[in-house]
Amino acid sequence: STTQDPTSAGRDLELRAVTKSYGAFTAVRSLDLVVPQGSFFALLGPSGCGKTTTLRMVAGLDTPTAGTISLGDREITYDKPYKRPVNTVFQNYALFPHLDISENVAFGLKRRGVKETKKAVAEMLALVELESQGSKKPYQLSGGQQQRVALARALINNPEVLLLDEPLGALDLKLRRGMQIELKRIQTEVGLTFVHVTHDQEEAMTMADTVAVMNAGVIEQMGAPSELYDNPATTFVANFLGQSNLLAGDILGPDGDVVKVSVQGTTVSIPIERCHSEGGKGWVGVRPEKVMIAEVGGEIDAPGNRFEGGVVTDVSFVGVSTQYLVRMPWGQELMVFEQNTGRRPILAVGTPVDLSWRPEYAFLLDASQDAK
Ligand code: ATP
Repeated sequence: STTQDPTSAGRDLELRAVTKSYGAFTAVRSLDLVVPQGSFFALLGPSGCGKTTTLRMVAGLDTPTAGTISLGDREITYDKPYKRPVNTVFQNYALFPHLDISENVAFGLKRRGVKETKKAVAEMLALVELESQGSKKPYQLSGGQQQRVALARALINNPEVLLLDEPLGALDLKLRRGMQIELKRIQTEVGLTFVHVTHDQEEAMTMADTVAVMNAGVIEQMGAPSELYDNPATTFVANFLGQSNLLAGDILGPDGDVVKVSVQGTTVSIPIERCHSEGGKGWVGVRPEKVMIAEVGGEIDAPGNRFEGGVVTDVSFVGVSTQYLVRMPWGQELMVFEQNTGRRPILAVGTPVDLSWRPEYAFLLDASQDAK
């Protein structure tokens, strides 16, 4: 059956102060995280940040240098991989080429001595929508179908936690997007804990309930996708999850439930819950699609902080939106993404413009961090 053993309720995956060093090099540094049972968790970060190392320690393929890993109240830090209720799906599906699809899916059960596998295999093939493909060989399936077989082969073992290491990395973009929706559907249907490793921010945000952004062996921020996107705590997170304009500012101080910041002589307000800097200098961040653009003197729908004296230096039409670059009087180029509603013509290069954004859309970051 694809449903979970009820006795395993409340078995969160927990990493406490997990460190992995290779000689003098620390790949993962004192990692703390809790993945609630039944949630879809994504570890997101650039190549080399320690995602795979973290996953391998959860799978038991690597041993932490320090710290503990547990599932519910059972510590598994040093358990052998096959002793853990954990299965992994890798990018290279590693299907057995000489076995047909049904035999591939049945493999885990057969190895454990289960004689009657037919019903379970049929259930799994139905789950991944490959009912009619059971007697084919792996080479007769597409990349996306092979990936679904790999998923079925892992899920048939009824693990508590499924680890996915860049499972969609080998697929082309269109197939990836389709499989992201598929994976999410399957995760919801079986209700297992999924831990998904990826460097693709869109993939992490599309699928996961919670995203942990990793950089150089540490988690910089963890939260719901929209939370991370709208309220990034560091410049790394702000830049890794989409694009942002970062404007240098002098922090004037708190004022009720906002913090006032002076940016090029204009005072802007940032909601206190979006302030991640103590004082002194800071970066005022605003996403390009939150910036409103108007020809000089023109009306801006919801004027908040208004910056004048801009000039359009680049226009890219991308279908759903138009992306502008606007040079400001202080020399910085800001990005503005405007949805193409057809309500007014696209502005041309050279047009003098004003920019504005609602104060509640901006965030404030520590200026000791690089803007890029
Ligand atoms: P990618 O997306 O490229 O796989 P990643 O975030 O998964 O990157 P890891 O594979 O976890 O990164 O590697 C983290 C760091 O640890 C890298 O700098 C890597 O070179 C280093 N590393 C990994 N395994 C070893 C090892 N066995 N010996 C020495 N260094 C290692």
